[in-house]
Amino acid sequence: MAFSLYSHILTHKSLKPNNFTYPSLFKACGSHPWFDHGRALHTHVFKFLEPPYDHFVQASLLNFYSRYGKLSLSRYLFNQICKPDLATWNSILAAYARNTSIDLSVDALFLFNEMQNSLIRPNEVTIVALIGVCADLGALSQGTWAHAYVLRSNLRLNRFVGTALIDLYAKCGCVDLANQVFDQLPHKDTLCYNAMIRGLAIHGHGRKAVDLFDKMRWEGVRPDDVTLVVVMCACAHVGLVEEGLKCFESMKEVYGIEPKLEHYGCLVDLFGRAGRVREAEEMVRMMPMKPNAVLWRSLLGASRLHGNLELGEVALKHLIQLEPETSGNYVLLSNIYASINRWDDVSRVRKLMKDHGVDKTPGCSLIEIGGAMHEFIMGDKTHPHSKEIYLKLEEISRRLHAHGHRPRTKEVLFDIEEEEKEDALSYHSERLAIAFALIASDSNAPIRIIKNLRVCGDCHVSTKLISMIYDREIVVRDRNRFHHFRNGTCSCLDYW
Ligand SMILES: [Zn+2]
Ligand SMILES: [Zn+2]
Repeated sequence: MAFSLYSHILTHKSLKPNNFTYPSLFKACGSHPWFDHGRALHTHVFKFLEPPYDHFVQASLLNFYSRYGKLSLSRYLFNQICKPDLATWNSILAAYARNTSIDLSVDALFLFNEMQNSLIRPNEVTIVALIGVCADLGALSQGTWAHAYVLRSNLRLNRFVGTALIDLYAKCGCVDLANQVFDQLPHKDTLCYNAMIRGLAIHGHGRKAVDLFDKMRWEGVRPDDVTLVVVMCACAHVGLVEEGLKCFESMKEVYGIEPKLEHYGCLVDLFGRAGRVREAEEMVRMMPMKPNAVLWRSLLGASRLHGNLELGEVALKHLIQLEPETSGNYVLLSNIYASINRWDDVSRVRKLMKDHGVDKTPGCSLIEIGGAMHEFIMGDKTHPHSKEIYLKLEEISRRLHAHGHRPRTKEVLFDIEEEEKEDALSYHSERLAIAFALIASDSNAPIRIIKNLRVCGDCHVSTKLISMIYDREIVVRDRNRFHHFRNGTCSCLDYW
């Protein structure tokens, strides 16, 4: 409708589009999948309107690109708007919240700071975007500040704010706080339940997740396909194979939902973790769609846990095909070959990696101490307290040794690690973060770390021991899941 009027304007001799023409058209393009239309329309703005462009035209353009996740373009347009209003701030922050990269999330926090300096008061929409950014960063104190802001400013704890908070607390490792927010929400819809069940699942509370799923249906809230993913994922984490299977079977029969790739992925994970590797493999071959990287990674986990080298090899070959630029896959495959002394294959994989121009992703850990974020890279010596950190690491090593811990060597068959150690002294990033936390925060509060790669076997064993020796809870969110280290054990039950 809007477009047919527009083409009428264009074809009519005496009519010309003006400032009032474009905002509603961009809005239409943003709410339908009409990206190409919108982009073409953008060229018309250049053609028919004179700069400086009207505020509403600029804002509608920004909103359009933000909805399609075009962050750098959105930011460019935002920078041209001289006095952004609340809606404009919300558009740009939402664009940042749609991204999950650490650098961009940090930029978003700076941007929010600027917004506050410009004296524009955030509303619920702003807060949802801010909390989303904090959740990705694991910035618990910033996120808690946002929560306090909601309470202090009489903003509504509506289901969007509530769901964002549940997600934040769960992703920062505080599942109890997530639960509190969930209980406080007056109206809970499918999204709220999904966030809470997912929170319970990633923290290994499988039984509670299944119970909440029962409660959800009891309360008459209709599960969607995401609900079924998170429930099955919860079952997989704690080995509730029958419950998980039941869920899968009920999808079509009870809820009329066609299983998607994610659901098959959960099923593979469910079998794999329970040691039913053959069934997991079967599932990957039989499923009606092409398996993606998540599925192969899940099979890789199963083969690793149950010592099935051949399957591990197959899974990694597929992973390298699907993700040729992810360095971790090459390192894992070459480590498998190294562990069984197939050195020709090791050098072949290394060459493949070089041919594809893949650089190794350095391991990197983020930790928040006293409201400030600290970043550590493997073998990092750039931190201002580097000297103390390395002294602490030596002390930790001595105490680990006294508890009988020996660093893993190649004799351990099939100990596959995504990260490499250049030498015995280049510590993985999470160790640096843990050492720093032990020095810098003397309270008994849990140490919370966010890592960009998978935790390696050696760090996993060591961190379990450190949690016991230093009597500190350590929560690590790695690329795949959460690990709660407490009293010498981990919530992942050594499967990750
Ligand atoms: Zn490690
Ligand atoms: Zn673990």
